[in-house]
Amino acid sequence: PSAMREVMLEIPKVKWHDIGGQDEVKQQLKEAVEWPQKHGDAFSRIGAQPPRGVLLYGPPGCSKTLMARAVATETGLNFIAVKGPELFSKWVGESEKAVRSLFARARAAAPSVVFFDEIDGLAVARNDGCGEGLSVGDRVLSQLLVELDGLIPRSSVAVIAATNRPDKIDAALLRPGRLDRLLYVGPPSEASRCQIFEIHLRQTPCRSDVQIEQLAAQTGGYTGADIAAVCREAAMTALEEDLSSQEVCMRHFEVALTRVQPSDPGFNCT
Ligand code: ATP
Repeated sequence: PSAMREVMLEIPKVKWHDIGGQDEVKQQLKEAVEWPQKHGDAFSRIGAQPPRGVLLYGPPGCSKTLMARAVATETGLNFIAVKGPELFSKWVGESEKAVRSLFARARAAAPSVVFFDEIDGLAVARNDGCGEGLSVGDRVLSQLLVELDGLIPRSSVAVIAATNRPDKIDAALLRPGRLDRLLYVGPPSEASRCQIFEIHLRQTPCRSDVQIEQLAAQTGGYTGADIAAVCREAAMTALEEDLSSQEVCMRHFEVALTRVQPSDPGFNCT
């Protein structure tokens, strides 16, 4: 079976306005991914080197994956997503080939983005070696470095990786010319939480007593993913109360807030 059978090529649909807050990260991604592809001539004119690859890091549920999809959508790039651990868990002996064919597919689908989620999984697999020779993680890492180094600057294949554990990333991956632009994607501020509630309630009729500002104020420590869960729970609570409910009320959110606890990523979220 083809090692890459499970790697999905998709046309992403996430837009910038589907992500609450993170304005700085959005701008940085635009500069790192969109500009080199759309304005390559400007870079050469001014003698600037665009970053080669981007590493998004930060706690779970704070929109790293959404960001990668959105920059692809907004730039009109095909999107190829692969979870780090998938590269070596299944295809022992086939793993380097898997990396090679991944990049071959990305070039064939260019202009495109290759997105490596959970790239820290590489480090774990590297320590799995049983003493003799290179572990599968080592071999995947070296093939990945070969592919990254082989990307033509300002080429039409962009590379984005994501991790919750930047401390586990091999330093070789972060050298200039590789994943050399690090962007922190942190938990949402109160103003961002407002936007995230609005985004996740777009399809939900809410009674006029639903105060999004108040919900945002009450959800310190909640990530974007937590807020999405609160909105789902509030709608479910309304249905549990009455299957013919027409709208969600503030009391449903109050129940939802007791059901969904904050991940509290422990970072400063003012
Ligand atoms: P992980 O490290 O667990 O992969 P992540 O940082 O990649 O997390 P996402 O997968 O992008 O997080 O986010 C998970 C879900 O949370 C999204 O599908 C979305 O519903 C919601 N979400 C997170 N952050 C935001 C945000 N800023 N605006 C709107 N929705 C958000």
